Amino acid sequence: MGTTRMDRRLFLKAAGATAGAATTLQVGCLSYFKKGRSAAADNREVPTTCELCPNKCSAIAVVEKGVVKKLNPNPENPKSRDMLCARGNAAIKQVYDPDRLKQPMIRVGARGEGKWKAVSWDEAFDFAAKKLAEVKAKHGPEGTLWSSTEGFQEVFFKNLGLAFGSPNLVRHPTLCLASVNLAYSATFGTVPSFDLLNSKFVIMSGANRFESIITPDTMDLIGGVMERKAKLVYLDPRFTVTAAKADEWYPIKPGTDLAFILAMIHVIIKENRHSKDFVAAYTTGFDQLAEHVKPYTPEWAEKETEIPAKDIVRIAREFSDAAPRALYYAGRRSSWYQNDFQMRRAQAILNAIVGNWDQVGGMVPNAKLPKGEFLFMPWDEPKAPRVDEIDKHFPLAAKGDGVYLKLRENVLSGKPYPVKAWMVYKQDPMNAMPDQAKTLKMIEGMDFIGVIDVQMSDMAWYADVVFPESTYLERTDPVEVMAGIWPAVVYRQQVVKPIHDTKPNLEIVQGLARRLGLADYFDYTIEQWVEAEFKELPIPLAAEHMKKHGVWAASGQPSYGKTLTPDHRFVTKTGKIELFSERLQEAGADPLPVYSAPVPPPSDRFRLILGRVGYFTHANQTNNVWLNEHMKENDLWINPKPAERLGIRSGSIVQVTSSVGTVKLKARVTEEIRPDCVFMLHGFGKKSKMQSLVYNVGASDAVLLETAWDKVSGNAAFHETFVKVANA
Ligand code: SF4
Repeated sequence: MGTTRMDRRLFLKAAGATAGAATTLQVGCLSYFKKGRSAAADNREVPTTCELCPNKCSAIAVVEKGVVKKLNPNPENPKSRDMLCARGNAAIKQVYDPDRLKQPMIRVGARGEGKWKAVSWDEAFDFAAKKLAEVKAKHGPEGTLWSSTEGFQEVFFKNLGLAFGSPNLVRHPTLCLASVNLAYSATFGTVPSFDLLNSKFVIMSGANRFESIITPDTMDLIGGVMERKAKLVYLDPRFTVTAAKADEWYPIKPGTDLAFILAMIHVIIKENRHSKDFVAAYTTGFDQLAEHVKPYTPEWAEKETEIPAKDIVRIAREFSDAAPRALYYAGRRSSWYQNDFQMRRAQAILNAIVGNWDQVGGMVPNAKLPKGEFLFMPWDEPKAPRVDEIDKHFPLAAKGDGVYLKLRENVLSGKPYPVKAWMVYKQDPMNAMPDQAKTLKMIEGMDFIGVIDVQMSDMAWYADVVFPESTYLERTDPVEVMAGIWPAVVYRQQVVKPIHDTKPNLEIVQGLARRLGLADYFDYTIEQWVEAEFKELPIPLAAEHMKKHGVWAASGQPSYGKTLTPDHRFVTKTGKIELFSERLQEAGADPLPVYSAPVPPPSDRFRLILGRVGYFTHANQTNNVWLNEHMKENDLWINPKPAERLGIRSGSIVQVTSSVGTVKLKARVTEEIRPDCVFMLHGFGKKSKMQSLVYNVGASDAVLLETAWDKVSGNAAFHETFVKVANA
């Protein structure tokens, strides 16, 4: 790409490729704002969009005398199901959190010592720009690393890294869902939604949805299961809330989910229960699959999983009987082992052979909506290859997201080249990445670290400069199209002015860009950006509508079956759903999922498994005062048998040790976990003293977790760590 400034009028263009999906859907008919809920003169109700998780529910902020008093759900977004979860409600406390970052700060003590000097924005920008320029002069732009996680303003941060010339942008997916995304893309050419509202039979492996992330589609499934409209089979070494509500719970031997799925496929094919018409019309590789799963019998799987063969057979029969309203749910945290990609592939294949693709109650390809784009001045492509060598080691992985753990290994080794500056937006690699000691080593090796965040995360605590971002209720963000079964356009506008000396990310990026000689790439305002996006929305008077309502949702029945036409080509090599994948084979991966048994823990150790609760789906939420009220610290779940052997009682402090770290936390002796595992929640044991509610409270799983990843996707394998437990 060249760097010539383009005529601004030419910058506006339609994202026309996605327009078709809108034509079958009509404008939403609900209107919160026609219900006469107008507020008193100095009070306001402002539509906005929640930022506390990726679901992006629509909300109405109630403002009284300039203070956000309440957040209500916005019923105009069908995807929100007229609800806000606990996290969504507690977003108010993000604004009024006494711990939040209130002005830019530069470190004056040693890294992690917590000595800071409050500075002006100019000082903070000058300092960071000077350090970044020094690293660029010495190591080239590739000597800088740009880490971020999802958010409506993430685009500006990524663009600064690219305009700076760095190839090293790294995002959160390989610490989360990369294995799912890659497996479904490899099979169907896209990552679908799961129609939990209409499904009759759902199987979940470890994705503890009733407890770990309460979103509107979780409520769909809870409703279905509680009203006995849907059956839920749940596999997890731990008796979770989801297990308690499920029709059947199996405490599966950890790491063996793939064996269970392969045996289900075996039964379905052997008993001719697959959807023959669907398989013939839309898939490729069925014969190879049938041959491949012959050895994976239910009896074999019983030995691997400890789930009785007769139950595997029955579940396979019930699943295929319920198809196409049957789902092997993907979700987050299924197993997180080094075979995670192939386990996800097997789920996708099982779903495909019963013909639940693009069906009511099955998997549905996401409908999209068009929106305009603000076209900014383009920059040159980075000249250097990525430091994580993604092309060499993970040829199928998403290039723009990178592979976090491999990247850290390479940065620590200094190969293929040194990386000496680290910019971070809204992410906390200190807690998100396994093996905190290694992350600290990486931090120590940096000449410069700058962090943009709303709070002093552990990553910010070790930075050289922190840039306080305004919370989502204090800023206007880009417009987002939420693709899905019911696609929607959501808008987040400023509800209240920033109450501290903070800035939205775009203005922070612009402040840095001006000093780095990159101002022309960011020569626009958020209002201009948003206006450009409004221009191509399929909504009459889009700008007025979005400002007044905050959401536009397609209503009416979703049109299932759009891809089930004779001429439809899936975005795969063959144009079909690939049960056998030549593309995987060419990339050196197994073209069909091959099982290998997990290594069991030695007799004096336990496998460490992790999870979340709905109050704190993300580690940055444990310090929210409303959410923290519900759970003050994490503890270590341990089964009574090993607890007795080790003399451990509930409430006593135990020392947990892996090959990379040691923590101390309270024990919870409970029958609700297998004897070969221990469990802890994510998000506690913070190092930042400006996370006052969770500083040094409980323990961080990142201290214990060893570095391991899935071979194909690079997804962190969070459940491959063995620990010793003893009374402290
Ligand atoms: S599910 Fe909860 S946290 Fe997520 S967007 Fe909705 S209200 Fe916010």
